[in-house]
Amino acid sequence: MAFDFGAVEDMASVRDGLTSCFDRPDPVRARAPIGQLVRSSISGCTLDDVSLAAYRRLVEAYPEWPALAEAPAGDVEALIGDVTFSDVKARHLGDALRAIGASHPDFDLEFLGRLSVAEALAWLERLPGIGRKVSASTLNFSTLSMPAFVVDTHVLRVLGRHGFVRSKADTRTAYDAAMAAMPRWRAAELAELHILMKRLGQTICRHGRARCTDCPIRRRCKAAAASGRSPARGGGRRRDPRLGLRGKDAAHDIPVRML
Ligand code: SF4
Repeated sequence: MAFDFGAVEDMASVRDGLTSCFDRPDPVRARAPIGQLVRSSISGCTLDDVSLAAYRRLVEAYPEWPALAEAPAGDVEALIGDVTFSDVKARHLGDALRAIGASHPDFDLEFLGRLSVAEALAWLERLPGIGRKVSASTLNFSTLSMPAFVVDTHVLRVLGRHGFVRSKADTRTAYDAAMAAMPRWRAAELAELHILMKRLGQTICRHGRARCTDCPIRRRCKAAAASGRSPARGGGRRRDPRLGLRGKDAAHDIPVRML
């Protein structure tokens, strides 16, 4: 495993660096676990606004989970058609909901809170189409509020470039490495770090282009060091409270939205 400085203070320093650049996220009202599972199941590789709108269409069309579980995949796909891989997600979502309904007809997943995090992740990941990102989201972002770090594509990219994990590491490996470095972090702290890392990945450490000179955590970043873009100190952005991010998106000269 390439996670070679997994001390708690290192993750804390990353968080401190990110909060020097981004506003701390506002608390949000958590969904019930089943709602969060559905929301996370359709959100992969899709803009937050788009997947949130799709989720709202789903629950408006199917206010009861059993009805959504039994809905034809084509009807679900039509409702979430603008999310990435909507056909696959619609099929997997129905399969997962029917599996849940078979064992828990009330679709109440609160029992997961009485399991260990590892046991709860394992239970969820036995469902069709549910991987580590969705399982961790269900535990961490829902009313369960369990300590499970959510690694999405943005967070995975940042972890890989920064050197926490190898650049080709998968989500599960990154999850294990991150959790090993934050054994005593509370659920809310893990959720905050996820949001901050995601913002970095959406705005500065982007898929196609990393603007390392603007990055608040570049001093210990291996990718920046390898490319010679890691000044010893200084730099960074000045906070613009209207944006949450310090300054503007220099690549496009547009305000960076908070997601
Ligand atoms: S320094 Fe560059 S590569 Fe490293 S995390 Fe920041 S933006 Fe990404």
